[in-house]
Amino acid sequence: MSLAQALAAHTPSKPGPKCAIYRLFQELDPDDAAALTEALADKNRWPHVDLARRLRAEGYDVGRDSVSRHRKGDCACGTR
Ligand SMILES: [Zn+2]
Repeated sequence: MSLAQALAAHTPSKPGPKCAIYRLFQELDPDDAAALTEALADKNRWPHVDLARRLRAEGYDVGRDSVSRHRKGDCACGTR
């Protein structure tokens, strides 16, 4: 492939929020999404690290920083 062809074939990097929580919501069925919304809102029952650890145990690649940023609205899908 020539450089010209390679450049012509380029598509922009995936658009949209890169927040791990946002991506997770895309994978969840409505029941799970509702439960996760509740867990995210309940900071006493679910400290960042506990929620992240639980999600990872369930096979979802979410770090505590992602949980923290999402809760604070500092992530790409922030509500500000
Ligand atoms: Zn987010």
